[in-house]
Amino acid sequence: MSKQLFERPTITRLTPGVPSKHGAASVIAPMPLIDGVKVDDLIDQFGSPLYIFSEREMRKSMEEIKRAFSVRYHKTQMAWSYKTNYLDSICRIFHQEGSWAEVVSGFEYDKAIKNGVKGENIIFNGPGKSASDLEKAARNGSFIHIDHMDELFLLSDICNSKEIEARVALRVNMDIGINPRWDRFGLNYENGEAWDAINRIMINPRLKLMGLHTHIGTYMMSTDSYRIAATKLADLAYNISVKFEYYIAYIDLGGGFASRNTLKGAYLSGEDTTPSFDEYAEAITSALINSRIRPDKLPTLILETGRAIIDNAGYLAGTVIANKRLSDGKRATIIDIGVNILFTAFWYDHKIHPVNSHSGLVEETAIFGPLCMNIDVVRSSLMFPALKRGDRIVITKTGAYNITQSQQFINLRPAIVLIGINRQVHVIRQAEILDDIVKNELIPDYLA
Ligand SMILES: *Cc1c(COP(=O)(O)O)cnc(C)c1O
Repeated sequence: MSKQLFERPTITRLTPGVPSKHGAASVIAPMPLIDGVKVDDLIDQFGSPLYIFSEREMRKSMEEIKRAFSVRYHKTQMAWSYKTNYLDSICRIFHQEGSWAEVVSGFEYDKAIKNGVKGENIIFNGPGKSASDLEKAARNGSFIHIDHMDELFLLSDICNSKEIEARVALRVNMDIGINPRWDRFGLNYENGEAWDAINRIMINPRLKLMGLHTHIGTYMMSTDSYRIAATKLADLAYNISVKFEYYIAYIDLGGGFASRNTLKGAYLSGEDTTPSFDEYAEAITSALINSRIRPDKLPTLILETGRAIIDNAGYLAGTVIANKRLSDGKRATIIDIGVNILFTAFWYDHKIHPVNSHSGLVEETAIFGPLCMNIDVVRSSLMFPALKRGDRIVITKTGAYNITQSQQFINLRPAIVLIGINRQVHVIRQAEILDDIVKNELIPDYLA
């Protein structure tokens, strides 16, 4: 008998479906309709993939959040966070619902003006405002939220040399009991920097202090953090009233309320764990009402909620390209939606529904996009039914940040449609064409 050849041992990780506490199988409901409109028809008409927005969902979320605050506090003002989704049609729906605009760049500022927002209804945040941005905002009477001392000095310089005045507020960062701390924006509460800036603004006759602002983070699950933030801003407002006998017009608690999406690695679904608007409203308004500010001088409460009022209203529909088996036997399904148009796939375990009915049998599956790039993973592992090439799917809760952060990469970006209240479908941005990509390119003569 001849000696057998030596074979190097290898270790292969087996990845059977990880059972949840309800067992291994999960029910995946088909989603043939969005707001009563057939997804199949939408894809036939406008192509795949396709972003879809529901006007009904948007207005419903706005009503819910406005109600949660207005029943608890005498004066609340919403300001739509442009960077969360600055499609003009989306912004205009929120403006129709009474929202001001909250912008973080000169480009967003100009977009808000083009959408018909009055200068005095624009809140200008962000660390990167240029001198010309600041001058324009000051002349228009917008609320300029000072992010750092250099900006305060630049703005007072502009106001002095141009002999104009500016309405300002101070962005404040603070310890809200959460790590890591968001202390890179605004001036700090605990170390006295914020108070120093307030004093500088108050003695400058060209700067009018209108409010105090904070934006404590995004997808904040803790209502207590908002209670702490509101308490600290109210405390500053009270100290201003004592020292200067001056009452600020507003306290702005920024955005950051969590949407119903599920964060990667979270044990429970976001639908079960994220606080309701009522819970956020309770924490914030009780902090303001119970502060030392005189009741008749309580400021307007401004909210810049983005994610929580648009995420649920957005869908991304697409098509299965292929199925294959990975080397460990796990099934992989390739779809025509890549992470370049679904940026939030990096943070969320997005829910994916087949459009039409399926066998009901699920298997552990990885869902990949069409990009020739290893990072293009929509879901690394979920229990999913076997779909065939050409079958369609809908990814839900994609309304926040995916449009504004999408990149043209490898593929052209898809069309965006809005389903109106009356179920009429409107294209609100056309699919990209090659010309859109090359129109700003220039070719030197010798390459022509
Ligand atoms: C991004 C941002 C918002 C909106 O945040 P969401 O988490 O989407 O609610 C509000 N205010 C400021 C200053 C922001 O930068």
